Amino acid sequence: MEIAKRAKQISPSLTLEITARAKKMKADGIHVISFAAGEPDFNTPEYIIEAGRKALDMGLTKYTPASGTLQLKTAICEKLKNDNALDYTPANIVVSNGAKHSLFNTFMAILNPGDEVIIPSPYWLSYPELVKMAGGVPVFVETTADEKFKITAEKLEKAVTPKTKAFLINNPNNPTGAVYTHRELNALAAVVEKYNIYVVSDEIYEKLNYEHRHHSIAAYSDTLKDLTIVINGMSKTYSMTGWRVGYAAANEQIASAIGSMQSHSTSNVNSIAQYASYVALSDRLHGDSFLEDMRATFDARRALMMLRLSRIGVPYIEPKGAFYIMVSIKQFIGKYFEGQPIRSAYDFATVLLERAQVAIIPCEGFGAPDYVRLSYAASEKDIERGLDAFGGFLQQLHD
Ligand code: PMP
Ligand code: GLU
Repeated sequence: MEIAKRAKQISPSLTLEITARAKKMKADGIHVISFAAGEPDFNTPEYIIEAGRKALDMGLTKYTPASGTLQLKTAICEKLKNDNALDYTPANIVVSNGAKHSLFNTFMAILNPGDEVIIPSPYWLSYPELVKMAGGVPVFVETTADEKFKITAEKLEKAVTPKTKAFLINNPNNPTGAVYTHRELNALAAVVEKYNIYVVSDEIYEKLNYEHRHHSIAAYSDTLKDLTIVINGMSKTYSMTGWRVGYAAANEQIASAIGSMQSHSTSNVNSIAQYASYVALSDRLHGDSFLEDMRATFDARRALMMLRLSRIGVPYIEPKGAFYIMVSIKQFIGKYFEGQPIRSAYDFATVLLERAQVAIIPCEGFGAPDYVRLSYAASEKDIERGLDAFGGFLQQLHD
């Protein structure tokens, strides 16, 4: 007996695999410095934790409407209005188990078999797998370091075919740290309008934006808003990765389709997490102060990591958002570490973890095989020590 073709074509998440490997080494007593983390290294702010406790005391332990409580959806609408100039009603919102789940539901709702989704490369490694699970075909458009890894309107237009159903934009971007300006989004929006395709706009790193103001492509026109599914969530913004709360904002037809599918699959997101998320979003005083501290901390670490990488002399892409830096290891592919061959970014990351106890993510799965990704969701002390070890490792590579 064979398993389904759909399941066979999906690879496991490498980011989660390497993070788990580093965590296991730590549990085994090995001192690993991890730059693998895809999550902020802060605890969830106390006012949100307190709300979680309160939810239990209030007895919020039962099913909620499958697509989320009215209270949370209303808070999400207010957030989208205040931060992104987007007017939605609760009927446009579906709360799911993390933004990853929102993306899964979105592709299930909009794709027919064979429909193409344009994905600028480098990309977060789950996008192609999510598209494939929904029967779609990922179409990658390469972007270059010269373009600051941002897709241009010309390149987007060239990639559109009669089968194009959607364009995916991740702004700020994981893994490149690229952030789109108002002008760049405007140009992309014009192409979207011309060809009448959906936009899946993953804005999960919205608040980790160091040089520009964040703009949502959905805010460009009523047409864009109607065509765009905005994906966001609590994970990165409020350091709530384990709570599993994400959301999609879309036109009513799409939101209702997602809600129906969710009502037969996972039902509602954990009721306690929903209440805590409502408090997270609506207590702006606590929320804004946490966000400003987190952003400033990441900004300082970003500067430190760039400084240390410059000193090592290894080429990297200057990130403007999120908490990752892509480092080019092209010049090291084909070299050896104490006789062990480095044939790929994956080998590089594996040998670095085993021999220098530094965890990083190889970028093959992100469509950037000459790069590795370093997360600066790590303390300044770890950044200093980890980059000492990284620099030492590079020096020992030989022909
Ligand atoms: N989008 C991007 C670009 C991400 O990096 C992540 C992190 N895993 C997600 C979505 C999903 O986050 P979550 O499911 O925790 O909300
Ligand atoms: N998005 C994070 C990362 O890229 C978390 C891990 C994951 O869900 O892939 O590392």
